[in-house]
Amino acid sequence: MIEIKDLCVSVDSKPILKGLNLSIEKGQIHAIMGPNGAGKSTLAKILAGHPSYEVTSGEVWFKGQNLLEMCPEDRARAGLFMSFQYPLEISGVTNRQFLEAAMKAQEKEGNIEEKMKELEIRAEFLDRNINEGFSGGEKKRNEILQMALFNPDLAILDETDSGLDIDAMRIVAKGVNAMRRSDNALLVITHYQRLLDYIRPDFVHVLADGKIVRTGGPELALELEEKGYA
Ligand code: ADP
Ligand code: MG
Repeated sequence: MIEIKDLCVSVDSKPILKGLNLSIEKGQIHAIMGPNGAGKSTLAKILAGHPSYEVTSGEVWFKGQNLLEMCPEDRARAGLFMSFQYPLEISGVTNRQFLEAAMKAQEKEGNIEEKMKELEIRAEFLDRNINEGFSGGEKKRNEILQMALFNPDLAILDETDSGLDIDAMRIVAKGVNAMRRSDNALLVITHYQRLLDYIRPDFVHVLADGKIVRTGGPELALELEEKGYA
């Protein structure tokens, strides 16, 4: 699905990712954990095509295509979905306008109202401006709604450092578990182990100082929770 080879990324000429390798196959759930400032969100942003981050070396292959050469829109159209740690608020565009336009652009079909009901999002949210005045948990649900409707091949979720409340975590897990198929994949980036009680990963990686320094199964998350990253 995705193969990241020796990826080096700088921001303002400061190296952040220093030779990161990661390979995710169809049907798998991977989790990346790691201390604050390790470069987790930088990885998410570079995969989404954020313009402020510079790839200094390395390669990323997504479904056989050279991801780093694709514009962000093409990445989404190719089946990549990203939920950011801090979702943007957008005035002047309602959720409905955004979802309808994005689904059309990606040639996706689906019943928005029905999905909202499944994810326990009140109908009024559809006609509110995107994320404007939403609480952290509401923003997350909104992102999961987008994910459920776009039905991506690879979803990357960058979780909030403050952690999600139980309700938001349950909704995230529900959305993720409902979209699981043998031909798609998920990467969850999280600072806390708790989410992984709800979304059970096949592999857990530790990102520290710009590299994957350890890989294990779900038990590694529990060990990190107990012993920390040292
Ligand atoms: P994590 O998500 O693992 O907590 P980040 O990827 O957000 O870490 O950040 C990694 C490092 O890169 C930090 O030292 C952070 O200060 C730095 N960094 C990230 N984004 C920027 C930016 N836009 N400008 C300057 N420094 C940045
Ligand atoms: Mg982060």
